[in-house]
Amino acid sequence: MGPRKRGERKRKAEENSAQDEEVADTSGAGKSSERSAGKVVSGKKSRTKGGKKYIGAHVSISGGIWKAVEDSVELGGRSFALFLGSQRTWQRPALDQSAAVKFQKACAQHGFDPTHILPHGSYLMNCGSPKQDVFTKSQAMLVDELSRCSALGLTQFNFHPGASIDSSTEKCIERIAQAINHAHNQTSAVITVLENMSGQGSTVGGQFNELKRIIDRVRDKTRVGVCLDTCHAFAAGYDISKAGGVKSMLDQFDQEVGLHYLRAFHLNDSKGILGCHLDRHEDIGCGNIGISAFRDIVNEPRLDNIPLILETPGRPGFEYAEQIKLLYSLCED
Ligand SMILES: [Zn+2]
Ligand SMILES: [Zn+2]
Repeated sequence: MGPRKRGERKRKAEENSAQDEEVADTSGAGKSSERSAGKVVSGKKSRTKGGKKYIGAHVSISGGIWKAVEDSVELGGRSFALFLGSQRTWQRPALDQSAAVKFQKACAQHGFDPTHILPHGSYLMNCGSPKQDVFTKSQAMLVDELSRCSALGLTQFNFHPGASIDSSTEKCIERIAQAINHAHNQTSAVITVLENMSGQGSTVGGQFNELKRIIDRVRDKTRVGVCLDTCHAFAAGYDISKAGGVKSMLDQFDQEVGLHYLRAFHLNDSKGILGCHLDRHEDIGCGNIGISAFRDIVNEPRLDNIPLILETPGRPGFEYAEQIKLLYSLCED
């Protein structure tokens, strides 16, 4: 099984995230124990072009969490994302210490700095849930996720803020901030990185001002950040497909939230149209966002030195490796 299948599984997991309905993901993401084949290119490899851009992909942890590092190297990625455990259960076995050591060794060996690794939270979590049991479980899971990050030597953690279900956005925002403050109290150092959403269902965080309102309520501002997903932004109504669209979105983000909070980007084209509120990722240049936005992104100095992570479905001949290669080919310096 090659990286395409892995990509599909990952996407399927994202599409089935069903945070809104609070149901378990059963897509089987990351079940495969087979390795993707490909030429080994060190993540450390210096580049003549795009040297300040850290492009990578969301890779599987099947067969051992350290294998995510090897997979990223095979793809030619200089950054990567991964889950920190099963997406199917609230009760996850504790992180294996020897696996954590292997992971850290692999990162050091291949030159991946922790700031270029962005773990993604479980889709089961809804820190904005009005249901007390779901909120309590989510809050505990956020603490567990941050503890896993620490054990792996990772410094930041990306998750979907939450969904209000049948309550108000304001209450949802308050609960999310409460869960973050609780997790910050229970752990140390790891930065909680909120992802912008497509606005599907009752998810919160589609509009930048919602992210800002969460950040406003977080006590330790040094431990909160934002990851902007291009597909989610486009689906939420930010038109990055038009000329200058990426620059204006970043300007707006800077005004409404503050660029210093920007920790990462997720690079995904969109199957849906502008403002459709559907979370449907497409391969780079194959969707309604189009290639010129991605050219602007990889040439945008404000996005230097942060992880730029692909979460695209992949297709024959245009898997993660080819999409990473394409994005680097668009870099002008
Ligand atoms: Zn996400
Ligand atoms: Zn994303």
